[in-house]
Amino acid sequence: MTTMPRVAVAGGSIGGLTAALTLRDIGCEVDIYERSSAKLESRGAGIAVLQETSRYLTQRMGLPLDAFCSSTSRLQFLNADGTVLHDQHHDYHFSAWNTIYRFLHTEFERIPDRYHLGSEVTSFVSDDDGVTVNFTSGDPLHVDLLVCADGIKSPARHALLPDVKSEYAGYVAWRGTVPEKDLSPETYDLLYDALTYQVLENSHILVYPIPDHDGATSPGHRLMNIVWYRNLTPNGDYEAAFTDTTGYVHDISLPPGAGRKEVLDEVRDFARAQLAPAIAEVVTSVDELFAQAVFDITVPHMAFDRVCIIGDAGSTARPHAAAGTAKAAEDGWSLAEEIERANGDVRTALPVWEARQLAVASQVAARARTVGTASQVNSTFGPDHPNLLFGLRGSGL
Ligand SMILES: Cc1cc2nc3c(=O)[nH]c(=O)nc-3n(C[C@H](O)[C@H](O)[C@H](O)COP(=O)(O)OP(=O)(O)OC[C@H]3O[C@@H](n4cnc5c(N)ncnc54)[C@H](O)[C@@H]3O)c2cc1C
Repeated sequence: MTTMPRVAVAGGSIGGLTAALTLRDIGCEVDIYERSSAKLESRGAGIAVLQETSRYLTQRMGLPLDAFCSSTSRLQFLNADGTVLHDQHHDYHFSAWNTIYRFLHTEFERIPDRYHLGSEVTSFVSDDDGVTVNFTSGDPLHVDLLVCADGIKSPARHALLPDVKSEYAGYVAWRGTVPEKDLSPETYDLLYDALTYQVLENSHILVYPIPDHDGATSPGHRLMNIVWYRNLTPNGDYEAAFTDTTGYVHDISLPPGAGRKEVLDEVRDFARAQLAPAIAEVVTSVDELFAQAVFDITVPHMAFDRVCIIGDAGSTARPHAAAGTAKAAEDGWSLAEEIERANGDVRTALPVWEARQLAVASQVAARARTVGTASQVNSTFGPDHPNLLFGLRGSGL
């Protein structure tokens, strides 16, 4: 009889939850250990949803896409004066990190007491029989497989691959949302059914609707979401922008509500001066602008005997393919497939899985980098860019 491995997952966000659910579905006993002590509810960022991100919710939970996604049917580029430079038909689905997380978390909690909040993995050691996982508090745990889905700053990746460095791409994304109902009728009409771009010199901005905080997905009840990429040089304006109201300098993200008035005033003034009126209205109406720096992180390995790193922990591509959660989810699906194919033998499955997922990660990272270079460095990005469309496996794929 096949015995499926006992699994610990470090990190309970979208990557960790998808891996945990797909592994549980093939018969593994799975626990998630999440460092945060409170349920992860406050990450309001919008995400473009690719097929891999939504796969668990649609295929295994039987949810229709409109239960957790907003949708748009056009892709448009605006000029600074507000006229439409380019307009094409293209269907996209968007959601919010919170919305996807809530569904996956509820599904995982159908078996109670397997999602452990306030459980930070501090170290791990493999031996012939398994992996011993240590926590800041509580007893060590012995499992057959440790899946590290611990994010862009992954302590697991630092321990396993100390030579791998995060490379700052030279720009950050200013982000935020505003209720559609608070927009002027002209702005709502122009933006509600589109992914809207504006390209500036060494900068570009995307605007799209996402579900509201309660998950409402129908037009008029959603939030309009912005992602505005602006270059910030390290050792200067980067640190200035990421210094919060208390003087603390954040390293990779400036949380909502933490930005200093002079920094946020500059962002809003620049929006009024340079952005199409509809886009400027959205940016200047956002209550709590926040920022995330953009990084490239590439790794030579994702599997280490009985330990693997997935999602942003495994590798991080720039966000221009909108494939971060798709890659995180796909890392989990393929892990479950390979473990099932190997009849539960972790040491047989992991090298095969690693080869598959390194290939996925490297092509998406390369594609996303071309968009970043064209938009933020060469100012050649536009509707004809070969990697314009979002996708994990290729532009639009
Ligand atoms: C500007 C920007 C725009 C983006 N747009 C999109 C988009 O449109 N579509 C898309 O799909 N993706 C997008 N992304 C990427 C996406 O947000 C990430 O790829 C995705 O959230 C990664 O998920 P994850 O589960 O791997 O990691 P995370 O969501 O970072 O989760 C890691 C978890 O691990 C926990 N943790 C950390 N250390 C430990 C520890 N030692 N022990 C236990 N737990 C630990 C953390 O608390 C956290 O909950 C964007 C990213 C950026 C920066």
